[in-house]
Amino acid sequence: MEVYLDNSATTKPIKEAVDMAVTAMEEYYGNPSSLHKLGIKVEQLLKYGKEIIAKSLGCNDDEIFFTSGATESNNTAILGTASATVRRGKTIVTTTIEHPSVMDTVKLLEEKGYKIKRLMPEGKDGTYTPMQFFNAVDDDTVLVSVMMVNNETGLVQPVKEIAKAVKQKNSNTVFHTDAVQGYMKMPIKLKNTDIDLLSASGHKIGAPKGIGILYKKKSCRILPIIHGGGQQNNLRSGTEPVPMIAALTAAVKVGTEKLTDNQKHYAELKKHLTDRLEAVDGVKINSTSNCADHIVNISVYGIRSEIMLHFLESKEIYVSSGSACSKGGHSYVLDALGIDRLSADEALRISFCPNTTTQMLDSFIDALKDGIANLAKQRK
Ligand code: PMP
Repeated sequence: MEVYLDNSATTKPIKEAVDMAVTAMEEYYGNPSSLHKLGIKVEQLLKYGKEIIAKSLGCNDDEIFFTSGATESNNTAILGTASATVRRGKTIVTTTIEHPSVMDTVKLLEEKGYKIKRLMPEGKDGTYTPMQFFNAVDDDTVLVSVMMVNNETGLVQPVKEIAKAVKQKNSNTVFHTDAVQGYMKMPIKLKNTDIDLLSASGHKIGAPKGIGILYKKKSCRILPIIHGGGQQNNLRSGTEPVPMIAALTAAVKVGTEKLTDNQKHYAELKKHLTDRLEAVDGVKINSTSNCADHIVNISVYGIRSEIMLHFLESKEIYVSSGSACSKGGHSYVLDALGIDRLSADEALRISFCPNTTTQMLDSFIDALKDGIANLAKQRK
């Protein structure tokens, strides 16, 4: 039996999403910008999608925009804010543990003359405090970008409180959060918060790859990075990917209905996994109690991540090395969290979805023990 425990890299689309994508292709093939009834029918479908997503985020329908994925949402949030605020300032505050789609985008602005303040975690456990951001923001700060849940360790940041502290210092500073690993895993209510921009991705929540969400608070002004036909209120030109949006809508609808149950399920899975792993010699659990329940990061003493990953793969068990995004390179996230280089090179990430079972985790643990015995033998 295939045991897929790499849901933070991507999820298998849920049946409801697949069915909706097919229905959209077969029955909603008009262009949503067309004035005739086939176009209007599709426009209604997109409107419904915005309603469902807005409800899931506790915001208004006209604050939801569709992108090609969270990479584009993050790029739009950062570059779009920078170009809308050129006369206001040239400083951006962010963290050392962001996803490359944030890291590399602010780096691009740095090369164009922006000052980037990259804050290190204050707590030993990797957490940031609102005060750190209050102190870092000044009159020149146009944007603060802080991720909600880290993709390698599951570490949760107090983004609402950080956003509040940012606005207290400079009410003109735009606050963005990359919520890819938090969306549909924990409740998010944007109304009455100081969060201006939020990014999320379809393929992490049971929808297909290639569809993302950008929330933009009505009062926040950013400029587009993609120009053309003026779709989506001129913020994101290009004919909307209707089948993807339909599938995303289905995934969000199901995810919202089951959010509370799923949260409980993830907590039980994490407890089961960590309780059992604690009894395995040579395994260190890197995720702390500040981490979300659907991601568990561990290190296996003396066995490099890739070696163990391929051993598990030979038994049809799929996990990730510490980070799917560090492309085999050293994990700057684990580094920033104070995890030593050796342990970081031995890190594995196990991540859950609503269909993950304790039996799957047991298969993983058995295979891991087998791997430790076998691979350690080879080392001697
Ligand atoms: N941010 C985070 C935290 C992520 O984990 C990912 C996906 N690995 C992204 C952004 C990029 O999302 P997408 O694949 O939709 O472009």
